[in-house]
Amino acid sequence: MTDNHNNRINPRRPFKGTASGLNRIVLTTAPRLNEAPHAKPIRNSQKNNAEQASILVISHSDRGMLDDHARQTVSAAAILANEATNITVVALILGDLRENIASCGADKVIVMPEFSFEKFQPDLELANITAVIERLNPIKILMPDNFIGDGDLGRRLIASQHTKTAATHVIEIDSLHAASPHAAGRKIAFTELPHIILLAADAADTNLPFIGSATIQPTIQSSTQVENTNNQQKSVSPYQNLGLKTIASEQVALEEADLIVSAGNGVSNVETFERLALALDAAIGASRVAVDDGKFSRDKQIGASGKTVTASTYIAIGISGAVQHLQGIKDCRHVIAINRDNSAPIVKRADLSIIGDAEAIMQALINAVAEAKSLSLQEAACACYLLLR
Ligand SMILES: Cc1cc2nc3c(=O)[nH]c(=O)nc-3n(C[C@H](O)[C@H](O)[C@H](O)COP(=O)(O)OP(=O)(O)OC[C@H]3O[C@@H](n4cnc5c(N)ncnc54)[C@H](O)[C@@H]3O)c2cc1C
Repeated sequence: MTDNHNNRINPRRPFKGTASGLNRIVLTTAPRLNEAPHAKPIRNSQKNNAEQASILVISHSDRGMLDDHARQTVSAAAILANEATNITVVALILGDLRENIASCGADKVIVMPEFSFEKFQPDLELANITAVIERLNPIKILMPDNFIGDGDLGRRLIASQHTKTAATHVIEIDSLHAASPHAAGRKIAFTELPHIILLAADAADTNLPFIGSATIQPTIQSSTQVENTNNQQKSVSPYQNLGLKTIASEQVALEEADLIVSAGNGVSNVETFERLALALDAAIGASRVAVDDGKFSRDKQIGASGKTVTASTYIAIGISGAVQHLQGIKDCRHVIAINRDNSAPIVKRADLSIIGDAEAIMQALINAVAEAKSLSLQEAACACYLLLR
């Protein structure tokens, strides 16, 4: 696979933390999900049983997985740990974890599935992460500085551990220092590596020359959690969790959409395509050719001269995957290609490809979605599996 489409560099960003030190230009990217993992050594394998100092990474998961920002934060910890001796990287995951995070360098993993980011319960989360911190006494704590809960929780942690040094929105990090923007982003402030680090996105490379052992550890509960679980004494929280509100996909800006179906020159029947988007409740995107043809308005165009999207799933239908289009989807987590040409560049970028005629596949998907909506979750999973086989 060629990675040309992923090789763009933000000229304004500072140095990126990599396993070989801080680099101004990092052209490599993490392997795609469908790529065979290269055999890499386990970084800390000999020493894992010994009593070791640890770096703790705390992050919420998103539907059982870590997003790129969270993976970069675990990798940043692994890079720091690798520069010293006898340091273990412990990842504390708030929410479900259904993937192995050894590839981003985690040595030990503690999962607290009850703390999904969908529930706003900062007091309880803080009590539980504090219990872990007291037990592990980590030399550093890293969290992704994001908007899905970790940035907020990290600031609460900093306030609660006020005797410890801390830095937020850290854009550059190595074992000696951290750097954050200041003066409204016009300058960069450097500091000795603080104890608590809230890391900005893209500050560390996840492509490591080693993996962690990612052994799952028993959960450490705070007394508050135990009390709550036993219903003996409810802690009084000043917050009320009103839950997440789902809004219709057409009300979501394309840049913020979680699921996008995108049409290219290979989509001849726009009506079928729009029915599929409706069935999936997905936002609509398009290639430049499809927009130039007048099939979609200009605000739907994705790519170098259109929008850059960050959907967790991007379904490209009848799109060849020209480099200008791929630039716009480089941050999408899962890409599914529907194309009749097995050798189209989008197929190399995709995590899953369905080779065949777009119209027939869109029809089959619409039927499968309608059927799945009338089935149980398990039956629906079987139906999708049979369709994709
Ligand atoms: C400066 C510049 C900026 C650009 N900016 C952008 C941009 O922002 N966004 C963008 O998208 N492009 C951009 N382009 C254009 C880009 O280079 C490509 O021309 C464009 O992305 C191709 O669109 P496409 O994949 O839809 O069409 P095509 O290249 O025509 O590909 C169509 C694909 O559909 C498949 N197909 C055809 N029929 C079927 C069928 N019945 N069933 C299944 N598959 C089928 C084909 O196998 C093919 O892979 C830019 C170009 C330049 C020079």
